[in-house]
Amino acid sequence: MSMPGRPHSESNPGDPSPAAAETPVDLKVKIAEQRLTIDWRDGKKSEFDLALLRKHCPCATCRTQREEADANPLKILKFDPSGVGVTSAKLIGNYAIQFTWSDGHNTGIFDFRFLRSLDGG
Ligand SMILES: [Zn+2]
Repeated sequence: MSMPGRPHSESNPGDPSPAAAETPVDLKVKIAEQRLTIDWRDGKKSEFDLALLRKHCPCATCRTQREEADANPLKILKFDPSGVGVTSAKLIGNYAIQFTWSDGHNTGIFDFRFLRSLDGG
């Protein structure tokens, strides 16, 4: 597919990197609503339920728990993640956001490309 008027141009001259679209220009963590909203550089807006992000937590502990749960037909649910909320958040460099959850869990680092991929890329 070709772009009329922009022959052989893969990005704007002002764009420092080809992944610029995956850079948030605005992030809001709404603790009361347990929602994360992101305005991306390319104009797309994403909104995430924080409970859903917990279910996708990329840290090693949660990944292992999910893999073990998938492999084992017997499900022993120690707690309901939907009952756990985010209490605070911070940026990690310029590539990720880290949440602290009400159960003390805080090792999940959600990089922006991952968040973007959760919202359809
Ligand atoms: Zn985790």
